[in-house]
Amino acid sequence: MKKSKGLQLGAMLAAMLLLFVVLASTPASAYSAGPRWQGTSAYYGWDWWGSIPSDWKPAIRNAAATWNSAGSVFRLNEDFWTANVYKASLGVNGPQANTDVSGSGQYITSVTTTFNGDKTWTTTGESNKHDVQDVATHEFGHWLFLYDLYGTGDTEKTMYGVGGPGVTKRRTLEQDDKDGIIYLYG
Ligand SMILES: [Zn+2]
Repeated sequence: MKKSKGLQLGAMLAAMLLLFVVLASTPASAYSAGPRWQGTSAYYGWDWWGSIPSDWKPAIRNAAATWNSAGSVFRLNEDFWTANVYKASLGVNGPQANTDVSGSGQYITSVTTTFNGDKTWTTTGESNKHDVQDVATHEFGHWLFLYDLYGTGDTEKTMYGVGGPGVTKRRTLEQDDKDGIIYLYG
């Protein structure tokens, strides 16, 4: 028996509606319940061997301050006695930076961020260089245990997983980034 046109259209609409519901319920955020700092602060500091140039430090401090003003109680504090921010070779085709998170049980116990010394860096957003503050703000998001995002709706977010020369938009947090730190730490 042939289906009527109306029935076909109805089935198609129902399928589209179902697809929309599935798409709408897919989380588009950088956070979920997972490892986190036990308290409401974490400490960052420079590699004692001096791999981080002094003119990078204001840019990295700005990145921490950006998260500190996100509306959460959590604070990223600079500490002279802590050495966990480095610059080292990660390969010319390697990532801009790498953040390793170690933990015990459900809590984060230490974090190390390495900026790729094989890339060319800028602190002023020069178009052909990698921006320290853009990358530092993104990497500090990983310190909090926010994830990389790659969706079409994620491109303006700090936790967008794709960066590159001349990119500075991840210096500033979008609402979803702020929701992430508040969700994890209050
Ligand atoms: Zn990332």
